Amino acid sequence: MKFDVAIIGGGLAGLTCGIQLAEQGKRCAIISAGQSALHFSSGSLDFLSYRPDGSAIDNPLDALAELAKHSPEHPYSLLGAECVKQMAGQAERLLQDCGLHFNGSIDHNHLRVTPLGTLRATWLSPVEVPTAAINSPLSWKRIAVVGIEGFLDFQPQLAAGSLAEQGIEVTTDYLHVPALDRLRNNPSEFRATNISRVLDLPENTELLAEELVRLADDVDAVILPACIGLENAKSVSLLCARVGKPVMLVPTLPPSLLGIRMHQALRRRFQQLGGQFMPGDSVLRAEIDGQCVKKIYTRNHTDIPVVADQVVLASGSFFSNGLIAEFDRIYEPVFGLDVLDASQRGDWTQENMFSPQPYLRFGVKTDQTLRGTVGGKPLSNLYIIGAVLGGYDPLQQGCGAGVSLVTAQYVAQQILALAEVAA
Ligand SMILES: Cc1cc2nc3c(=O)[nH]c(=O)nc-3n(C[C@H](O)[C@H](O)[C@H](O)COP(=O)(O)OP(=O)(O)OC[C@H]3O[C@@H](n4cnc5c(N)ncnc54)[C@H](O)[C@@H]3O)c2cc1C
Repeated sequence: MKFDVAIIGGGLAGLTCGIQLAEQGKRCAIISAGQSALHFSSGSLDFLSYRPDGSAIDNPLDALAELAKHSPEHPYSLLGAECVKQMAGQAERLLQDCGLHFNGSIDHNHLRVTPLGTLRATWLSPVEVPTAAINSPLSWKRIAVVGIEGFLDFQPQLAAGSLAEQGIEVTTDYLHVPALDRLRNNPSEFRATNISRVLDLPENTELLAEELVRLADDVDAVILPACIGLENAKSVSLLCARVGKPVMLVPTLPPSLLGIRMHQALRRRFQQLGGQFMPGDSVLRAEIDGQCVKKIYTRNHTDIPVVADQVVLASGSFFSNGLIAEFDRIYEPVFGLDVLDASQRGDWTQENMFSPQPYLRFGVKTDQTLRGTVGGKPLSNLYIIGAVLGGYDPLQQGCGAGVSLVTAQYVAQQILALAEVAA
């Protein structure tokens, strides 16, 4: 199997890199072992949300200079502020071309409502998610938070409690939609994506709208758990029109409907552009000659290697098995790349679980152009993108999706530039 580019991992980083390359005519394969972080995410994309002192960042591009001083190993610091700005703008356009509609832009972060009703700074939020400007309250005075009876992955009272602390008048209630009764009888199947498969049916939209009109009589806006609109945002805009006021979604515990919808849209776009997506397969090992990756071998195609001019590693962090932790070592399992870590086991974590955890910054080391290294020497055709990279803390800094998108765009650009030189 011969491709121009083989990408290992089909999460946010791998897919957006593949889309950018396929748009420019590159023959790409994405080999992807399983679900990605998107399936568990909020659906909002963070670029750079918090300073080391925990304060929220309003203008993330202005904060890059400060970041370079205190986190020189951060992927943004390696690439430089001007490049990061360009790549972020490119990523915004790419997402739009995939039919994904977000509120927000790289010029200003905003606050999104979390499942607990608190506010968290972020870069882009799906249009249905309630948001406010940094340091500003939500614009509604009275909100109804409506749960779904028997649905354990979102508790309206918890969200309402925090919203009320922000001075908002909040009511809570539950949806009564008989169409959900059969699903409700099986609690383990009563999850966001399954619920949306019922609520998104055209025959149920009117029933749902009637119920919301009843519950939202004297409020300015309604907040529901994200259990509607698995395919696209259409069902929610229909509801808004029918109810006559904003109907908004907040993320639930996983599976994340908003994240899965994003994943599906990106995968669809990649395949429409001619990309080959190989789901459920994993890269086990690679053949390296000199400093060049020659062949990669997967679990499903044991004796037929994937051969590509350029290889991109987008295999995620510990969560996706892109990094493996044993008792006394951290390693990258496919190529045995150099990693940034702490040599002493005791330095991997901090006892206070709310403190920033050092292991979150562990990951693959690269040169300035994001090529992976073994024994300090770069492999000439292996690029590293997304959560498998080291040097940053996606939780404390609030930069997970931004690093994936920016590094994916940067590496796609590097590969395209190489092809131009060769032509
Ligand atoms: C639970 C969770 C929730 C998060 N929520 C948010 C959020 O709400 N907002 C935000 O900005 N950031 C969030 N993040 C940060 C997140 O890391 C990034 O936003 C981003 O989605 C990571 O994308 P990625 O493509 O780099 O890696 P991943 O999404 O982890 O994807 C890696 C993919 O590679 C595959 N893979 C691994 N090894 C192999 C192999 N050998 N062969 C083939 N395939 C392989 C995996 O199966 C997986 O599909 C979250 C992270 C986690 C873990």
